[in-house]
Amino acid sequence: MKIKFWGTRGSIATPEPEHMKYGGNTACVEVRTADGELIILDAGTGIRRLGASLLADETCPRRGSIIISHYHWDHIQGFPFFAPLYAKDWSFTVYGQFKVDGRLTSALAGQMGNLYFPVDMEAFGAELKFVEIIEQDIQIGQTLVTSRALNHPQGNLGFRFQDGAGIMAYVTDTEHFEDRLDEKVLELAQDADVMIYDAQYTPEQYPNHRGWGHSTWRAGVEVARAANVKTLVLFHHDPAATDEKIDTIIETARTEYPNTLASSRDLEITLEGHHKPVVSSLPRATTTVRSRLNYKLERDEQKVMIRPSSFLSVFNSEEFKQVVIDSFVDEVNTVVFDFVDLGEIDSLALGSMAYFLEEAEKKEINFYLCRANEFVREVLMITRFDQVIKIVDSLEDVA
Ligand SMILES: [Zn+2]
Ligand SMILES: [Zn+2]
Repeated sequence: MKIKFWGTRGSIATPEPEHMKYGGNTACVEVRTADGELIILDAGTGIRRLGASLLADETCPRRGSIIISHYHWDHIQGFPFFAPLYAKDWSFTVYGQFKVDGRLTSALAGQMGNLYFPVDMEAFGAELKFVEIIEQDIQIGQTLVTSRALNHPQGNLGFRFQDGAGIMAYVTDTEHFEDRLDEKVLELAQDADVMIYDAQYTPEQYPNHRGWGHSTWRAGVEVARAANVKTLVLFHHDPAATDEKIDTIIETARTEYPNTLASSRDLEITLEGHHKPVVSSLPRATTTVRSRLNYKLERDEQKVMIRPSSFLSVFNSEEFKQVVIDSFVDEVNTVVFDFVDLGEIDSLALGSMAYFLEEAEKKEINFYLCRANEFVREVLMITRFDQVIKIVDSLEDVA
C-alpha cells in the first residue's frame, strides 16, 4: 500500500509561504493498494494536483474510487477541479456518507450549482457511480475498507484500509471524548501500521474549541498507544498553524510517541508488510421474527401503519415502494413505520426510507418510526433520520 498526501490542511486552504512545508491544500490522500487499485480519500483542494498527476501518468489504469468522508467544504471543494472527471476514458465510484438531510449527489451537485460554479455535473465525461455508505465493510479489489461514524458536527465517517501489505486508518475530523477513548476510533486503529489522525488543535487550544469536531495530537497519541498503532500521522493542520508551529507540535508529540509524523505536502508512505487478510464484521442483531410475508400495511382512517419484515430486500421491491406511496392518500395525515421485525438496516433500505419521507413531506404527512432495535436506532442517528422524523419506542407514542 502506498499513501501520498496531496492535501493536509483542515478547514480552508492556506497558500501562504509559511505553510509550504506542511502544505496549504485541504484534505486529499491518494492510496494505491497492493493490487493496484486507486483510492482517493477526500476531495479537498489537494485533489486538483492529484488529478493533473494522474492524467500525466500513462501507466495508471483509468479508474478509481473516491471516498468522501463528509461534506464539509474542506473535503469536497476540490471535486469540481479534479480533471479526470471531465475525461471520457475514466470511471470512478464515488462513495459518501449516507445522510438523510444531505445526500451524496446533492452535496456534490449543490456546490456546482449555478450560483457557485460555471458548469454543473453534466459537464463530467467520466463514467460515475455514486454509492452511499453507512458503517459497513466495502471491498475495493482485494482491499477491505471498513467505515465507522466519528464524533463530528453533522456526522462523518472514519475508515480502515487493509490490503496484503498493511493496515491504514484514516481518522480525520473527529473530536475525542474527555472521559474515554472513542471505541469506534479504536476499532479503526487497532494494530494499524499507519493512523492518519485529526490533530487540528494543540491540547492548549482545544478547550476554546470544544464542540467544533476536532482533536489534538495528544488524543492521537492516546489512541495510538491503546490500539497498538505503529506510526501516527498528524493531519488536518489548523489553518493558523505555520510550518514553525507544526515543527514544535511534532517535537513535543515525539517526546510522548516517538513514531509520530506530521503529514506534509507530497509525503509518501509505503507499507510492505505481509498480513493475512482479516475480515472485520459489524455486530449484528439476532433477528427474532422471520416472516414469509414481506410487509404488513394497514390503514386506519387517517393513519397508515407499515411493518416491513426482517428481509431488507423488501425495501428494494418496486411493488412495495408503490404500495407505500399509493397509501399516502388525501385523508392520511400520519404514517408509521414499525421496525419491530428488523434486525439490521442497510443503505439501500435507508434510501427507500428517504424517498418515502420526501413523498410524505410533499403531502404534509407526519412521519413516525417506531420499535427499532438498538443497532438500527444507532444507524438512524448516524444517518440523521432522528433530525427529520420522530423516532419513538412504542406504537402508543404515536400522536
Ligand atoms: Zn475537515
Ligand atoms: Zn469536518
